[in-house]
Amino acid sequence: MKFHHFIPTEIFFGEKALDEDGEIVGILGKRAFIITGRSSSKNGSLNDVLNLLNRMKIEHDVSHDMEENPSFSLVVRITDKVKRFKPDFLIGIGGGSVLDSMKAVAVLSVNDIDPIDLYDQGRYSKALPMVAIPTTAGTGSEVTEYSVLTNDETRMKGGFKSNLIFPRYSFLDPRYTLTMSMELTIATGLDALSHSVESILSTRSSEMSEIFALRANELIFQNLPKVLKNPDDLECRSKMLFASMLAGMAIAQTGTTIIHALGYPLSTFKNLKHGLANSVLMIPTLRRIEKSHPNRVAKAITPMKDVDDFEIFLKDMLSNLNLRMNLKREEMEEWARIGSKAKHLKSTPGDFGYEEILNIYEEMMKEYGEGDKR
Ligand code: NAP
Ligand code: ZN
Repeated sequence: MKFHHFIPTEIFFGEKALDEDGEIVGILGKRAFIITGRSSSKNGSLNDVLNLLNRMKIEHDVSHDMEENPSFSLVVRITDKVKRFKPDFLIGIGGGSVLDSMKAVAVLSVNDIDPIDLYDQGRYSKALPMVAIPTTAGTGSEVTEYSVLTNDETRMKGGFKSNLIFPRYSFLDPRYTLTMSMELTIATGLDALSHSVESILSTRSSEMSEIFALRANELIFQNLPKVLKNPDDLECRSKMLFASMLAGMAIAQTGTTIIHALGYPLSTFKNLKHGLANSVLMIPTLRRIEKSHPNRVAKAITPMKDVDDFEIFLKDMLSNLNLRMNLKREEMEEWARIGSKAKHLKSTPGDFGYEEILNIYEEMMKEYGEGDKR
């Protein structure tokens, strides 16, 4: 047996986690800059943070400038505000977009570099300390060393990775996820599922990472359908948040696979939520990997019996959304060319060249293309 495991994030999980244990952030200093979007004002999370900071007399400023699939220009704008305020630490309250933006800003605000340089770890050596407060149950970004940004010029998404961007503290309170819409609940729940499944598929998977991923699979298969039936069930929301954190801890060690890489253009060019983009690509990719690595695929979808069963589960979840996509042949060809050079291929079992990847997009379109069969 062989593995390497590193998670330097201190985690506080549970209802009222901030109220009960939030004061620990005082270690990080006396000035905090909050990065968030709009929804944190409605789910109680921003209020809890402001109460904590006021109670502790920590000076603070807030930026609400946020977008899905955060771009280079967004993180530069926030960095400018942060540099003016000169905080000791950052607090991110929101979904993966907020947390990923915070990670980029943490590096950009204390190193004299451009966003493109984030992809070259040799270009920076420090980052502001970070506190992560997720309000979606999907990305696991609160426990990973990844941040996914969109290049404004190419509109392509790409993740950068550095141990410097693991948050120092993460507070996970399931109450904040209660306000998620059905679509967001499905998209984020299936993102978490794609993390656990892809982590087990990955050639970098280990006995250690599988502990987290297999438990995440189990929790999501059990609880996502329940949460959709009863969106206010806090116990189920809690299990989904826990599962998403576990799946994040798994990909923090293994990374994701070609499924994530092929999904990125569907988000930036077709406006499909990240988790949904992964879900529509999952079955055709699993069927291809299964040809050469049947045992690995069987393990990755445990406790589902086989890929057919897994497909029924996914279709059942997605049937709530009536997904339809309009994709031109040239777009698929262009993305297949880009996908065939993705770094994710190194950790994806099986052979994936241009033809195989194009075929995955074609298979996806048979199911989700406009005017096609359903
Ligand atoms: P998101 O893009 O952060 O948020 C989607 C939408 O949901 C936003 O409009 C957001 O509004 C809103 N929202 C957030 N929390 C809410 C709540 N509790 N109730 C109601 N609305 C809420 O979605 P996400 O799926 O969490 O993050 C996706 C991003 O994370 C993608 O860019 C993906 O590539 C990245 N990602 C990162 C990692 C990693 O390890 N770093 C892993 C997987 C994915 P506001 O922003 O205005 O609040
Ligand atoms: Zn993801």
